[in-house]
Amino acid sequence: MSKEIFDTVLQVETQSNEIHNQIGQLKYLIVKLLEENNKLKIENDNLKKHYDINLMDLDRNEEKSEKKIEIEKPKLAYNNLTNLYNEGFHICSDQFGRPRSDDCLFCTPFLNKFTKSS
Ligand SMILES: [Zn+2]
Repeated sequence: MSKEIFDTVLQVETQSNEIHNQIGQLKYLIVKLLEENNKLKIENDNLKKHYDINLMDLDRNEEKSEKKIEIEKPKLAYNNLTNLYNEGFHICSDQFGRPRSDDCLFCTPFLNKFTKSS
């Protein structure tokens, strides 16, 4: 009888340790998610700023004739991507818009492709 009680206490203790560990893991996950969320917020703000600048450029072009817009649009897209890249962001499809610390092997072909076609 007393052995049974002892076993039960041990069991509950083990379970309580497991719950404690799980809470610890959840806390760690929450911290990671908050960090990621904060990073995404900053990236989103950066992209929004670039998007607003692009819209401002487009508005300016719309004041000119429609024909001119057709000519300038591809160039504009290239300039914006180049600016984005030069300001330290990826323009490759894998990591588009993410901050870049070094030259990216995947971004460079995009820049070259645009340079050749324009
Ligand atoms: Zn890249």
